[in-house]
Amino acid sequence: MKVVKFGGSSLASGATFARVKQIVTSDSARRIVVVSAPGKRDAQDNKVTDLLYICHAHIRYKVGFDDIWENIASRYREIAKTCGLSMENVESMLSEVRTGMTRSSTVDEIVSRGEYMNARLMAEYLGYDFIDAKDWLFFNFDGTVDYEKTYATLRELSSYHSHMVLPGFYGSLPDDSIHTVSRGGSDVTGALAAAAVGAESYENWTDVSGILMADPRIVDNPKPIERVTFSELRELSYMGAEVLHEETVFPVRQANIPLYIKNTNDPEARGTLIMEEFDGESAEERSRFITGITGKKHYTIITLNKMHRTDDVSFLRRLMEVTEKFHLPIEHMPSSVDSLSLVIATKAIGSNLHAILAKIQEVCKPDSIKVCEGVSLVAIIGRRMAGHAGVSGKLFAILGEQGINIRMIEQGSDEINIVLGVMDSDFAATIKTLYNSFT
Ligand code: ASP
Repeated sequence: MKVVKFGGSSLASGATFARVKQIVTSDSARRIVVVSAPGKRDAQDNKVTDLLYICHAHIRYKVGFDDIWENIASRYREIAKTCGLSMENVESMLSEVRTGMTRSSTVDEIVSRGEYMNARLMAEYLGYDFIDAKDWLFFNFDGTVDYEKTYATLRELSSYHSHMVLPGFYGSLPDDSIHTVSRGGSDVTGALAAAAVGAESYENWTDVSGILMADPRIVDNPKPIERVTFSELRELSYMGAEVLHEETVFPVRQANIPLYIKNTNDPEARGTLIMEEFDGESAEERSRFITGITGKKHYTIITLNKMHRTDDVSFLRRLMEVTEKFHLPIEHMPSSVDSLSLVIATKAIGSNLHAILAKIQEVCKPDSIKVCEGVSLVAIIGRRMAGHAGVSGKLFAILGEQGINIRMIEQGSDEINIVLGVMDSDFAATIKTLYNSFT
């Protein structure tokens, strides 16, 4: 059995519903379908979830929201009409939801209706059973997933519903009220469903042909990544690649279920396969060391100089007390004999820079402190870099040829990533140069 999840852009209109049906029915193992709410049909359009958030704001301030509701309702009417579904059913579903919204509904309950209604229509269209997410995806009061109860319930449901459509994005709290995951959370629902039933794979269908090797806003036509490990994916996502909802990976990784990213608009394209590890290398993989290049802008480097700092054995602890006090996550900490730098997201420092520097001066008594703002971190990620000599040498050489100064360099000891610090103004050029030289 395969669990397949379709994102909002794959479910934005009747025409895209038809494409989804073709994909689902072309493989009889695709028996559990998880859906998002209708997304944007074009750049000017709105996501239904966003419109539902606006409805909630109107209800809260007792302002009429008929126009927005009509906008939402028309989306479902169009889907039902194009797909030849019962208009009577869609009207009764819409009035049930509309009535429910004004009956002191919470924000989570209101915004969850986008997925709820889309799943009901998709179930009718496919001839699958609709199973409400509130009846199988259970959260604890603190918002964490109650895995045991969730997995056991869906497993049981799957024993007497052979084909199911599940709404993504929400579930229920112990008091039965609706609780949503954070935005984009239908990815997580799909992963939980796959883990619950021990699926043979989890397919995440979206509007791109897999994870790309670099950001297409920076590099022209970057190649899709054929195969990536969960660890590489973690590095890629952490360093800025927008791929899946952060919490998606955990359930499928734990259950060792292969995760595919596929394109609804190009179902034949290979997409990306994500697994714990791979046997051997494909021909394409043999042709290069790296899996992807990504990065994030806007970091600050605070450098402390102190002669004989290594003899001062409490120096680091005192420094960490300051960073802890200001809630500063330290991304990297490159050092030399007499200096130590902290690389921190500028956003985390906020307006506290002077207070932080004053505290460091007082507590650590460095000989001098220097601050460098406007730094970007660029990461080269690739499991095949491990054990290969010459990657960083090549990297330094090509960036040097382009006149790009490297402010910092770090390599994790598992050798799957190399992180460089460059100035924000060199960010795009660094990614382009590395992509062109390493792919
Ligand atoms: N509809 C929700 C959102 O727009 C969840 C999802 O699409 O995954 O964030």
